[in-house]
Amino acid sequence: MKRILLFTVFSLLLCSSCKKEPATSETVENVSSLTETSKENGFAIVIHGGAGTIKKENMTSEQEVAYRTKLQEALDAGYKVLEEGGSSLDAVQKSVNIMEDSPLFNAGKGAVFNSAGKNELDASIMDGKTLNSGAIAGVKQIKNPINAARIVMDSTRHVMMAGKGAEDFAKLNGIEFEDDNYFHTEKRYNQLLKAQEREKVVLDHSALIIDTKELIDDHKYGTVGAVAIDKEGNIAAATSTGGMTNKKYGRVGDSPIIGAGTYANNKTCGVSATGTGEYFIRTLATHEASSLMQYRNLSLKESLDGVMKQIGDLGGSGGLIALDRNGNVAWSFNSTGMYRGYKKSSGENVVKFYEE
Ligand code: ASP
Repeated sequence: MKRILLFTVFSLLLCSSCKKEPATSETVENVSSLTETSKENGFAIVIHGGAGTIKKENMTSEQEVAYRTKLQEALDAGYKVLEEGGSSLDAVQKSVNIMEDSPLFNAGKGAVFNSAGKNELDASIMDGKTLNSGAIAGVKQIKNPINAARIVMDSTRHVMMAGKGAEDFAKLNGIEFEDDNYFHTEKRYNQLLKAQEREKVVLDHSALIIDTKELIDDHKYGTVGAVAIDKEGNIAAATSTGGMTNKKYGRVGDSPIIGAGTYANNKTCGVSATGTGEYFIRTLATHEASSLMQYRNLSLKESLDGVMKQIGDLGGSGGLIALDRNGNVAWSFNSTGMYRGYKKSSGENVVKFYEE
């Protein structure tokens, strides 16, 4: 009898430990206070401006202020859309536009250069209510790639358009274009020259590259993304990027791939990614996070940690931001920092860079 009892207790303990997902980093936050608010039509937005080696000792106070101000501006703009009763789709697009217009981030104006000295842009957006999505890949000279992705979603039967066809279509639909000079920032160009010197494919904001390990440990990305839930409880997610410095012409990363760089589903959550795109494609990172919630009943935080663990195990690096259908906000990253923040109708407003 005693043996049976001991066996039962042991089995129960084993089962409960099976359900736990190993945490990948202490930087993850799961703010769960919106669970009740969402029933009263609470709303929230979470954004990122890229992950990587973001260390306090490497930042001047001017740089800190510049990033903080721009991230707050992006949060406020998206939040205002939600506050006025606008859709989460409009909110994420608005926030992303602000970061695309800033040279601080690797999207739109601040996009990195590919190996041919061109800025090739990728973006995607997804509506969690209908699962409708739009994406553009490998386009040049589009000022706000996320607007072109939105047009693909709203005005075509398709999900993704690429290259010249996507550019022609965007032009026909009144999307704003800029010449190459607009996208030429000294910082990005110097990054390309450095990268080419070393004949390495490197990630945005990178310093010196020595080997793959250093590439993973010591580099920042700069892609931008936003996820929001509106007063109707609809979730949307958006991501926009210039990709990786010195990437091969024609290379497409995870950001325009639905389920890799961007995913939203009202049943579960919305997620936007930043990092070594190839690994986020291989793991279908943002969809995987949604699946872990849907099929394994994990919390948002556990799901993101689970995905980042898979990415880390494969050798990839970066981060995810997300919110779930109850308005819980979470993030997870295995780099030293990630530009990020959230703002909620409950009054919380947070902007962070480092592991804290
Ligand atoms: N994920 C992007 C890409 O691989 C890069 C980034 O996040 O900065 O294109």
